Amino acid sequence: MGDFLIINNVTKTYLARRRTIADFILRRKIPYIRAVNGVSLRLDRGKTLVLLGESGSGKTTLGRLIVGLEKPDSGKILVDGEEVPYVGDKSYMRSKLRGKLQMVFQDPSSSLDPFMTIKDIVSEPLIKLHMPKNEILRMVIEALEMVGLDKSFLNRRPIELSGGQRQRIAIARAIVTRPELVVLDEPTSALDVSIQSQILNLLVKIQRELGLTYVFITHDARVARFIADYVAVMYLGKVVEYGSADDVFNEPLHPYTQALLSSVPKVGVRELPKTISGEVPSAINPPSGCAFWPRCPYAMNKCRNEEPQTKVINNREVRCHLY
Ligand code: SF4
Repeated sequence: MGDFLIINNVTKTYLARRRTIADFILRRKIPYIRAVNGVSLRLDRGKTLVLLGESGSGKTTLGRLIVGLEKPDSGKILVDGEEVPYVGDKSYMRSKLRGKLQMVFQDPSSSLDPFMTIKDIVSEPLIKLHMPKNEILRMVIEALEMVGLDKSFLNRRPIELSGGQRQRIAIARAIVTRPELVVLDEPTSALDVSIQSQILNLLVKIQRELGLTYVFITHDARVARFIADYVAVMYLGKVVEYGSADDVFNEPLHPYTQALLSSVPKVGVRELPKTISGEVPSAINPPSGCAFWPRCPYAMNKCRNEEPQTKVINNREVRCHLY
């Protein structure tokens, strides 16, 4: 499904909590959480991959790994043939991908410094790239225009703006370096419903104009359906289904995908959506076998004991013993 973005067997673990002095003294072991567990995906340039799942599925960690804000414990991520550097490593400064990978966060109120001017916020990534000063202002104004704002915003501050305008500023800051790939982490979920579609349409327009590749993180199947070319459904750090948006939405194969998508009303069907029962189990102590079995209506004995491996069915990857 492409070779612009290649995620090859990536795993990322964290300590379940910070180590305290008492832990050292008592030699207590702290459990690990496998936030991302052996994920492999591929994507073509200019396409949108949606990472879909409930909170705790590992979507945001995978997004942060893709832009180098986290370092994988094992596995590799390549963009356009280059290994993604971790921002904390020395190799980052020499990497061709510097400035080419950007991320937009969920809540613009917390991701933008409320007291900085818009000019300073949007120019920050260009200053880090040592762009010439006379170029910076031109590029900032161009980025503002691309997100539907003008230079009258330059000296204003986020605190004076609406939620939708703030998210436009966050998008302008992400595209000002002319990146090749942008990770969008639930970019509309903190906004009013009336503003959400405006921002989604804006993102589609910018993608076409700049030829951007998007990795779009969401828990909302309706948003996923609107924006996705490809969908990777994640559950407890693993991809349980991956395929083209048309295939996944028209005929979801994995029981978890089926449950997530049942919340999207179908045209002409006047049926109340089913809700998915139970909660995502603890990542510290995940269920044995298939991690979804405690919530799965089709669970069999085998599901409790044996972890399903990825199978390819009609151009789709799916992890489930039903196939
Ligand atoms: Fe359900 Fe078993 Fe498939 Fe897991 S492997 S999704 S428990 S049927």
